[in-house]
Amino acid sequence: MHFNDIQRVPGDPILGLIDAYAADPNPNKFDLGVGVYKDALGLTPILRSVKLAEQRLLDTQTTKTYIGGHGEPRFGALISELVLGKDSPLLESKRVGATQTPGGTGALRLCADFIADCLPGRGIWLSDPTWPIHETIFAKAGLMVSHYPYVGSDNRLNVEGMLATLNQVPRGDVVLLHACCHNPTGFDLSHDDWRQVLDIVRSRDLLPLIDFAYQGFGDSLEQDAWAVRLFAEALPELLITSSCSKNFGLYRERTGALLVCASTADKLLDVRSQLSSIARNLWSNPPDHGAAIVAEILGDPELKSLWADEVEEMRGRIAQLRAGLVEALTPLGLGERFAHIGVQRGMFSYTGLNDDQVARLRHEHSVYLVSAGRANIAGIDASRLDLLAQAIAAVC
Ligand code: PMP
Repeated sequence: MHFNDIQRVPGDPILGLIDAYAADPNPNKFDLGVGVYKDALGLTPILRSVKLAEQRLLDTQTTKTYIGGHGEPRFGALISELVLGKDSPLLESKRVGATQTPGGTGALRLCADFIADCLPGRGIWLSDPTWPIHETIFAKAGLMVSHYPYVGSDNRLNVEGMLATLNQVPRGDVVLLHACCHNPTGFDLSHDDWRQVLDIVRSRDLLPLIDFAYQGFGDSLEQDAWAVRLFAEALPELLITSSCSKNFGLYRERTGALLVCASTADKLLDVRSQLSSIARNLWSNPPDHGAAIVAEILGDPELKSLWADEVEEMRGRIAQLRAGLVEALTPLGLGERFAHIGVQRGMFSYTGLNDDQVARLRHEHSVYLVSAGRANIAGIDASRLDLLAQAIAAVC
């Protein structure tokens, strides 16, 4: 038989957690595992702006023909504006181009093949820790993957260690940076830290790849883009992967883009010709529906304003939950120990709970976290913060 030697690989541990949570009969269970935004009712609803845009598409869309390797130009222009700011000189000088991809993951995959094909011999440097798919996506594309320190076993941001390692990275290598809301830790660099990283990137001639999966979930749509815009203005070349999964709630529509900033408009065309050829071999044309929704929203001032309010609502809920959890832990004598939860940004928090505590939370209190103590703060039910704090206190 042809398939006899194929071994079964273990499933994604996060997906296993979903099954265990679903099977738990405890009515007071908490799902802090899976990385999706949840509202006060524990649901991941379709945004109102998205529903309105979809209705318009239903009424007006006239074709489902292929959209081309780079996707819909209107989506590309609008997502570039959202990421770089509408006054970015790169837009005017046509030094930036967006390629529509199946989600941020597709953008990363396209980028990985681009580096492997067009920049042979370049290694890639990832934060330790990082989103696990970063590890496999670049390794599978054949790149040499290395790491710079980011958050250590003391559960603190290690900027010194990060800068020291970046100072040793071979010239020309690619450095992947999280624009904001670092996954899995929630610890972000300060503006000053970013400036120091930029200095090293420049002096060692490194190529930054900024993964921007949570625009709007940290401080605001504009503030979260601060580092991306700093790098885009200071450097001649930059790679940015943008995801619309979280901020538009379009997870399953697979909507994202790879943005390339090149030194000249002409060089950008060379790069884009390669990207379109690589994409052709990966997925031919990107999926359209999610990107069409995004273009409809960003291209209409009224819908855009509704959407921005909805993003702010999601961001505000997460910020309130962070503050609320620290507050609930304070009377239990744990406020200081978990103060970092209030400082971190985005959906995720490295809580600092160890594997044993995570296992006890799950088995004794029906609180489901990913190992390494990562909690999806957006999964918390605000009305049961005290119960969650008591469960945490019981295992500490
Ligand atoms: N980068 C990071 C850091 C992420 O956390 C995610 C989503 N989990 C992505 C990229 C990609 O998201 P998607 O493919 O769903 O757009």
